[in-house]
Amino acid sequence: MRISSVQNYYCPKYTNNVLANNTKPVQNPNQTVTSGGGQISALPGYKFYPQINFTGIQSTALTLAKKIPLEDRLASVLQILQQGDVVVIDETLKSAQKSLKEVANSFHNIIKRLFYIEDDNFHASLALFKNHNNELEAYNPNKFDFVLNSGDKTYTMKQGDSFYLETGDVLTGNDSRLTIKDKPLTDLSMHRKIFVRSFDFTDEVKPVIKRQNQKSIYSILQTLSGRGKKLSFADVGGQDNVITALKKGILYPIKYPEAYKNTVVNHGYIMYGPPGTGKTLIAQALANETDAAFIKLNGLELESKWVGESEENWRKLFDSARENQPSIIFIDEFDAVAKKRGGADVYGDKVVNQLLTLMSDVEKNGDDIYVITATNRLDMLDSAITRSGRFGKHIEVTAPNTKDGILKIFDIHTKNKKLADDIDKEKLAAELLKLKTTGADIAHIVNSANENAFERSGIYKKMEEGTLVAADIENLQITYSDFEKAIGEFASSNKKSTRRPVGFVNY
Ligand code: ADP
Repeated sequence: MRISSVQNYYCPKYTNNVLANNTKPVQNPNQTVTSGGGQISALPGYKFYPQINFTGIQSTALTLAKKIPLEDRLASVLQILQQGDVVVIDETLKSAQKSLKEVANSFHNIIKRLFYIEDDNFHASLALFKNHNNELEAYNPNKFDFVLNSGDKTYTMKQGDSFYLETGDVLTGNDSRLTIKDKPLTDLSMHRKIFVRSFDFTDEVKPVIKRQNQKSIYSILQTLSGRGKKLSFADVGGQDNVITALKKGILYPIKYPEAYKNTVVNHGYIMYGPPGTGKTLIAQALANETDAAFIKLNGLELESKWVGESEENWRKLFDSARENQPSIIFIDEFDAVAKKRGGADVYGDKVVNQLLTLMSDVEKNGDDIYVITATNRLDMLDSAITRSGRFGKHIEVTAPNTKDGILKIFDIHTKNKKLADDIDKEKLAAELLKLKTTGADIAHIVNSANENAFERSGIYKKMEEGTLVAADIENLQITYSDFEKAIGEFASSNKKSTRRPVGFVNY
């Protein structure tokens, strides 16, 4: 049969799909493939792809990758789609999350992996997945209808309907159009990680995921929501001195260039301090506050993957930053590329010299490019870097050492949660201070307390039984004992350094 609704497999309730033969698909002029001009070499067939190889060069690369036609990006993901995987296409992460809830309510199976493709011209949500027969299905979570054109037939997909798809099928809805292709114009597998966000619930973190899956999709949504929001300084707690220094050094020179005409502006910063204290968070917030392109790199990746080509890559990286000015290049785990070495390791020396030369060009040209590096150990860095005027600003980022600092971070992470009246925040803050918790630890404890509240109030059980109603979530409150339990678990676990959001992989 042509139409197969997801509910037929996973949901006890059977919903009829509606067939409409005369519905005309809506054409979307925005979806016409256009080339953006520019360089070609990395991806034959696409004229707009960047030539830079760095892993993690997220914002710039994503913007460019979005210019690859949506159908080709999707086709590339479909090539690796397996049963239990879901791909959500949407304009924004926020509305994708909303749709996911809808999709998840209809799925009564375990979702193994979740992919999210963002497309500015796709004004709808669409979820695609492999059904139990290994056929591709599309699910319409939108309030409006989608039209499916398959050969000479036309079908209407109402909200909650799912139809199986074949190559060549065309889906249209709300001025958005998508053609199903079996493979992209050219092999995109090397670049997939740039244009699709992937959450893997199978391998790495099996025990946790098993629990998560039992708890259903809400945990997945939490993982997603932490990663999509636009951060600002208001999301950073207890680091006022660091923020002030970066405002004076970077934000104001970018915003008020006239005021700095006769001043030498420092373009290189080293943030140092223990992991989880908010170095990355601050750099991201700074980029948003300055409306700057944010390019994030990890020293470890650079060292292991790009040794051979590293000098060339650094140059391209700076070229790209220059094209997208103002730009902030954030290099995490900087010690991996710029650590002290004996003379034998030429790679390190070369990178350091190259970086210093590139920074010197930035200064000479007066470019609005700032390089912020982060390390846990300032003393590990090559003195050529630390002593050079080019990385002259060193800012220490510590775990909060006052109750006030702790409370600020606590408030940030609980602002969208309901706290019960029995919560004595001062007492909690004192406990967190005693445990020397970092911002990441506090975020983790709040999340655990929230999970404890879910457990205590029977929400997971209701999810399992399918009896959950919106009021269950609305009335949920986190109590003092939920926090006590979370803090107890935290104190007794020595997993303090494991801070990757559960399930997130760069595959
Ligand atoms: P670092 O780069 O120093 O290792 P991150 O910035 O990656 O630390 O912190 C990880 C997460 O921990 C952040 O995304 C945030 O949720 C939380 N966090 C860390 N420090 C703070 C802080 N000062 N204020 C609020 N949240 C924080």
